[in-house]
Amino acid sequence: MTDRIAVVGAGQMGNGIAHVFAQHGFPVTMIDVSQEALDKGRSTIAKNVERQVKKGTIAAEDQVKILSRIDLNMELDSASESSLIVEAASEDSGLKFRIFTDLDRIARPDAILATNTSSISITEIARRTARPDKVIGMHFMNPVPVMKLVEIIRGLATSDDTTKRVTDIALQLEKTPVEVNDFPGFVSNRVLMPMINEAVYCLMEGVAEPAAIDQVMTLGMNHPMGPLALADLIGLDTCVAILEVLRDGLGDPKYRPCPLLKKYVAAGWLGRKTGRGFYTYSK
Ligand code: NAD
Repeated sequence: MTDRIAVVGAGQMGNGIAHVFAQHGFPVTMIDVSQEALDKGRSTIAKNVERQVKKGTIAAEDQVKILSRIDLNMELDSASESSLIVEAASEDSGLKFRIFTDLDRIARPDAILATNTSSISITEIARRTARPDKVIGMHFMNPVPVMKLVEIIRGLATSDDTTKRVTDIALQLEKTPVEVNDFPGFVSNRVLMPMINEAVYCLMEGVAEPAAIDQVMTLGMNHPMGPLALADLIGLDTCVAILEVLRDGLGDPKYRPCPLLKKYVAAGWLGRKTGRGFYTYSK
């Protein structure tokens, strides 16, 4: 039998990660402190699986099977039987440190503890456990069922064996793993976030309207999505959190979040998830 996977956090990334594991035959326990998030996570997965059936990417008879592989749970203890635990809770270092301290106590001794963090140091997270060799970054991209990349991030103590096991699992999920080392923002967000931030500065300084900024990048640079639309998809609060990690971790003020980005977050305009960011979205 395929080993059970636990996913901690049922938000936009957590439910996407649970979805791809279940789609590829893994039994999954999706854990969240909020019952509402679990219910919403499950209904999002159901909707996305249905979309895949309509598009013909998965067979209709697999729809029920995929959903039946996912259990919901509010207790972290329910991760105790899993050989791989992927943490995708909110991007808050204190929270992640606590979760990893608890997981280290709860999880099987041979279990790998992976984190989907966008920017928090894998090495620092690993330090909260007695198994830093088995802690690794498994950074899925949004939307998880669609995006091919998994950035595999090695902390200072991550072993070759852990890296190989996680790389093999990413391949089983039909993803493309790319190995990088633990440095603030890794590669993905170190390159992406300054671009998004600069686009927000363009908006703040009146260089152009959001649609124009995005069009320049989609039509001119062949990006599939403009930076402001992408920021709305990622979540503006997450963007600010990542920029702060880059600024503090690399000690360079060039990474400071644009004041307009911070203002939107202060207003609760977090992008798609709240219905409003640089654009407005109907529910
Ligand atoms: P989200 O806000 O949609 O979901 C976070 C979930 O974590 C919520 O449902 C919350 O209830 C839950 N949570 C909080 N504390 C918890 C706890 N103690 N135990 C279990 N669950 C808990 O956030 P998201 O966008 O899904 O991001 C999750 C992680 O993935 C973050 O680390 C983020 O940086 C990373 N990430 C995000 C993106 C993106 O595009 N949004 C891309 C790659 C990586």
